[in-house]
Amino acid sequence: MAKQIAAIRGMNDIYGESVDAFNHIVSSAESVMTQYGYRSIRLPIVEKTELFSRSIGEVTDIVEKEMYTFEDRSGGSLTLRPEGTAGCVRAVVQNGLTHNQVQKLFYTGPMFRYERPQKGRYRQFHQFGVEVFGLATPDIDAELIILTARLWEKLGLENLELQINSLGSQAARADYRKKLVSYLTEYKDQLDEDSLRRLETNPLRILDTKNPELKAIVEGAPKLIDHLDEASAAHFEMLKAHLDDVGVEYVINPSLVRGLDYYNRSVFEWVTTELGAQGTVCAGGRYDGLVEQIGGKPTSAVGFAMGIERLAALLIDNNKVPEISKPDLYVVLVGENVERPGLVISEMLRDALPGINVQMNCGGGSFKSQFKKADKSGASYAIVLGEQEVADKVAAIKPLREKSEQQTVSWDALAATLKDLLSV
Ligand code: ATP
Ligand code: MG
Repeated sequence: MAKQIAAIRGMNDIYGESVDAFNHIVSSAESVMTQYGYRSIRLPIVEKTELFSRSIGEVTDIVEKEMYTFEDRSGGSLTLRPEGTAGCVRAVVQNGLTHNQVQKLFYTGPMFRYERPQKGRYRQFHQFGVEVFGLATPDIDAELIILTARLWEKLGLENLELQINSLGSQAARADYRKKLVSYLTEYKDQLDEDSLRRLETNPLRILDTKNPELKAIVEGAPKLIDHLDEASAAHFEMLKAHLDDVGVEYVINPSLVRGLDYYNRSVFEWVTTELGAQGTVCAGGRYDGLVEQIGGKPTSAVGFAMGIERLAALLIDNNKVPEISKPDLYVVLVGENVERPGLVISEMLRDALPGINVQMNCGGGSFKSQFKKADKSGASYAIVLGEQEVADKVAAIKPLREKSEQQTVSWDALAATLKDLLSV
């Protein structure tokens, strides 16, 4: 046998129950977005490296050490997208989509980060992202959060905690940065290597540390939320009021700063305690400066991204994955010369019962083995065609899930009978 070739570490094949969970999350999210009047956008997976270094920030984990960057054949530096916002901003700027109009967009697809693979953290992972351009008021920040809450409800996910914070304006943040640095400098001898480096480059990220030994220091730090500019404070109050009005609960987490540089004002995360350390399933916020940074006109913007792998793991752990691929009918074909009429009958049923999944037994097999497969498929009924049935132009309908009687009906009456039985 030839030597097998394995996939890249941290890049997974998604199949079975996981792919059912995946598809369910994406289709549910798409339907919620459509319900709120958002439109889909498809974006390239590869962009110029400069797009990410300019937008995400040079001193972030992603740009410092997580990007898959390579030269293409003409020598340009390209990067597999580590997130979706930068590409989406580039697309709206390049295509003039924000000229005198609001854009409410969503997308989904793979993202790539060279991280240490572990549960809930992969090198190729998938996000469902939403970005809104051209709206400065807190009603849209609230809408984004509220529609994610609606999605969790649709997916049957409880126990997700909403954490919110405000980062204020860029100016207020720069002021606060000075206060934070002087506070943290007092504890310099207790900081870890990462934090010492960030103290110079990106001190706000220290608030985001995953090191439990730094927890007490971080908790005692001055809080950005106490140093907001007036307009940002009012924006945050209105966001909270909107959430209160529709009954979406939240906690204010003053150390929520998010990993990327481009955020200002509202930031939020949905967090679960059920997935261990990788507990954030959705994260986002406002990024009013980014469009300009990417070469567009100043444009308000706000968005978020959900991690589909983490949500899929939650659905699986909580038994919330619907049986999407389950057939309703399994066609059993036993005997000489039954395949040809069997295939015609199966097609006839698919024509007559469009919402019903019909799986036909292919490849022959004994009565017993076909029934085993029918049972395992999860179908409600087996449609049985043997030599005698074909000669009589009838089929047997055999219930697989309940103890009711088998019945034999003519081919002409088959679809109508099944329609009744399946109540469609
Ligand atoms: P974390 O703090 O977990 O590294 P992050 O702040 O880097 O997350 P974002 O860039 O905000 O993550 O991405 C949004 C969401 O995408 C995350 O909340 C998470 O659900 C998911 N995500 C991010 N990185 C990964 C990864 N390597 N593998 C799986 N999911 C991921
Ligand atoms: Mg990360």
